Amino acid sequence: MTKHLLLGQTLQFHANPLHDDWQNACTVDSAGGVLIEAGRITAAGSGADLRTAHPDGQNLITAGFVDAHMHYPQTAMIASWGKQLIDWLNTYTFPEESRFGDKAYADMIAGRTMDLALAHGTTTLTSFCTIHPTSVDAYFEAAATRNMAVVGGKTCMDRNAPDTLRDTAQSAYDDSKALLEKWHGRGRATYAITPRFSPTSTPDQLNALGSLWSEHPDCLMQTHLSEQHDEIAWVKSLFPTARDYLDTYESHGLLGARGLYGHAIHLEPREIDRLADVGAALVHCPTSNTFIGSGLFDTFGLAARHIRTGLATDTGGGSSFSMLRTMAAAYEIGQLRGTALHPSQLMWLATEGSAQALHMSGQIGHLGAGAMADIIVLDLASTPAIAQRNARATDIWDALFPTIMMGDDRAIADVWVAGKPTA
Ligand SMILES: [Zn+2]
Repeated sequence: MTKHLLLGQTLQFHANPLHDDWQNACTVDSAGGVLIEAGRITAAGSGADLRTAHPDGQNLITAGFVDAHMHYPQTAMIASWGKQLIDWLNTYTFPEESRFGDKAYADMIAGRTMDLALAHGTTTLTSFCTIHPTSVDAYFEAAATRNMAVVGGKTCMDRNAPDTLRDTAQSAYDDSKALLEKWHGRGRATYAITPRFSPTSTPDQLNALGSLWSEHPDCLMQTHLSEQHDEIAWVKSLFPTARDYLDTYESHGLLGARGLYGHAIHLEPREIDRLADVGAALVHCPTSNTFIGSGLFDTFGLAARHIRTGLATDTGGGSSFSMLRTMAAAYEIGQLRGTALHPSQLMWLATEGSAQALHMSGQIGHLGAGAMADIIVLDLASTPAIAQRNARATDIWDALFPTIMMGDDRAIADVWVAGKPTA
């Protein structure tokens, strides 16, 4: 049976105020509550007492989810079958990304992506765009229309990609510079310098982007790192003098505290040491890692080194727009490594952890004074299957966990962006 607990200021009458002193006839409770089951009130009184007695009847107000790594141009090709990373890029991703020189198409997919994100309770996206500057304009314009805080940048590739998706070292520098000067800090936009990954950039291009980052150190830098074994072997063949994968970034000025390194699954000890030394952030993309068959991110091992970690969908390598489903996958990966993440740890990664990775702690992903009011309300009994499990909950974590594991956009009861409801 689904329960709903309404909390707020309540007015209850106990007597007729025309007959008795009106002050004795009613109770106003500034922190009251009403429990509703099957259309009928089954309890009313102190909100605190009702909350304790009925953890299964509550919605949960939390900071909006912060997706710290995704590819909005891959929205329309999410859930494409049967390939691992390199074949998946060549077969599905590159043909789709080639379409984003068309501003109208980029506008349509950017708007669609933002609306899907908001419907799933994600109030901040961090996206790779395509090599086309139009794709970056479309992304930031769509976010500005919705007043969303977003991070994004032009994806740079000057080798090992189709002709239609290659820039050069110089044009990557010039286009990225023009775009970051146009967008970085405008409204709620943050620019991230964005080499896709080492295999698709020449050393010259990586150097050019490293120079650009040193000239604009307040920008973020996002890329991919050590996702699959084949990819790592390819990087070693392309950069024979590099000490490891991370060194292909480090030696070109692309390792720093404001760097975001997606995946980071198969790290070598030197790489972990350097990431910890410089205070770089890793981004865990669990649905992508299982979908593309990449491996098991070491959440606890890297946290023990105090390396900042965000959580992300990696759409469309990831298989869901939902950060709830993403948390569930992070839990499953933790289990495969022999460590169960607590619901509080999963929720932290999806909000505060991602915000910290983006250097936006206290501004987004945070339910506290001073933060922007990007807020969601989770319905903890959003489907019959979740509701019947939720009805057995013994505390709020037990009430929340079924929604993390089984929830989707139906669990998002309300979304506020910068203090305004989205629907
Ligand atoms: Zn990615």
